[in-house]
Amino acid sequence: MPASPFHFLRIRIMAFSLTTSCFVARSAPRRVPRAILATVVASAMVSTSALLVAADVLAAQTAPTHGVRPRRLVIRGAIVVEGNGTPAEGPKDIIIEGNRITQIVGIDPAAIRNGTARRPAADVEIDASGKYVVPGLINLHGHVQDERAGQAQPLEYQFKLWLGMGVTTVRDVSSETPKTLQLRARSLAGEVMAPRFYVYARYAYMPVPRNEVEARQRVRDLKTQGVDGLKLFGMDKDVYGPVLDEAKKQGLRVAHHMAVDETNALDAAANGLTSLEHWYGVPDAAIPDGVQQFPSNFNYADEGMRFRLAGRLWREAEPARLQEVLKAMVKGGVAWNPTLDIYEASRDLQRAETQPWYAQYLHPTLEKYFKPDLSNHGSYFANWSSTDEAFWKENYRIWFGAVRDFERLGGVVGAGEDAGFIYQVYGFGLIRELELHQEAGFPTLKVLQHATANNALILGQQENLGRVRPGYLADLVVLNGNPLEDLKVFYPPRADAAAGPGGGVAWTIKDGIPYDAQRLLREVRELVSTAKRGSSR
Ligand SMILES: [Zn+2]
Repeated sequence: MPASPFHFLRIRIMAFSLTTSCFVARSAPRRVPRAILATVVASAMVSTSALLVAADVLAAQTAPTHGVRPRRLVIRGAIVVEGNGTPAEGPKDIIIEGNRITQIVGIDPAAIRNGTARRPAADVEIDASGKYVVPGLINLHGHVQDERAGQAQPLEYQFKLWLGMGVTTVRDVSSETPKTLQLRARSLAGEVMAPRFYVYARYAYMPVPRNEVEARQRVRDLKTQGVDGLKLFGMDKDVYGPVLDEAKKQGLRVAHHMAVDETNALDAAANGLTSLEHWYGVPDAAIPDGVQQFPSNFNYADEGMRFRLAGRLWREAEPARLQEVLKAMVKGGVAWNPTLDIYEASRDLQRAETQPWYAQYLHPTLEKYFKPDLSNHGSYFANWSSTDEAFWKENYRIWFGAVRDFERLGGVVGAGEDAGFIYQVYGFGLIRELELHQEAGFPTLKVLQHATANNALILGQQENLGRVRPGYLADLVVLNGNPLEDLKVFYPPRADAAAGPGGGVAWTIKDGIPYDAQRLLREVRELVSTAKRGSSR
């Protein structure tokens, strides 16, 4: 929607007032009485486009109000990383009307310097000079968690961490479906400070479907509930094809936690799975004997044993076969969301246990949940050894190579964190995931593409999300630094860091609503310290 002529004139008046005063309050009134407008109409130069104003008026614009969607927001002078893997470009002005990006205008830096740049008008603006803008991050593997091991945990904690680190969309892959469906609606309506949700419900709830008829019925039941997709665990071959076929018929996408099961990556490829979560089923499909060399007392239900032996799985994949498996996945249209971060404690337990963020950002419920305890999923470290870590380091090396080869062969790599387990904290986990994609050998432009355009493609939202592009939903992150140089700019700035305080997210914009990211993170710190005081009483 173009700005009205009155809108343009209001801005000219602000410009006049600027010339008579050195100091202009950020809150300078934007509404001008009609009578004054009428007198200005006679004298104002109205030949220029209503959308463009001279640079001298910029300081008179209003800063965003945290959590309030302006009618027209302009992010000024940003270096833009579009999200599709193309190089950074700027400075640019990004125009957002309502919840959509409507225009992106390249600015001549020389014209900015000498004050002749024509800039789009705005109700509200963010000065992004010296800052980078990237698409809102999509967390492809999240779990909405309002409790850990029976202890209540505030959703506000999780949501503010996500938004505070630039996560604007979460694909929820199994939680309490009815609750998360409500949150999805409330987030869309702007009633809750939270990312967008895509709800992938657990397929195998009790009673677990026993045959093709029951399997297809379960998929239809979930469709009736209004979910966006399915989350599979531990599938057998006889129902796998029918479930994926029925899901396709019902317009549901499918994320499969691919463990060591009867079905592996080749079955996923043959039946058109949407995304393979984690990894086990990839090397498992490339073992010449068809089964890993387990010790005779191996029990898959024993988490300590399972994670220990998982650290010896990639080395058993036969390299030539592995390439065939990766090719089959590409041909079958299966995307891969490796969730590298969620296994990192296995290769370096001390790092996991002593992350500097914990002091201020680790909620006591999560702290308790992460401690070794066989009743909590993923806390299997009671007897973790240097030998386990050495195997896991080798495991990662082969895994990194496989993910790189998969993309080189044409595969779509996504990015998700799976936080709330194994020493990964919401938001921090996704940024760590990005760092691990870089460690795997991907250039940072591709890493950011994994978490934006690729994830949007996997969600089937490639025309709405994951790019800084006119027509797309206004989900954006304004960063105090260059993420192509340092992905750590997404983390909260740390005064005590050896590498310096870092940048941090300045603004997270979700659905056209700007959030002051550092304010959200401050509120998380307050929430955590209050909870700690409560739990120590
Ligand atoms: Zn998970």
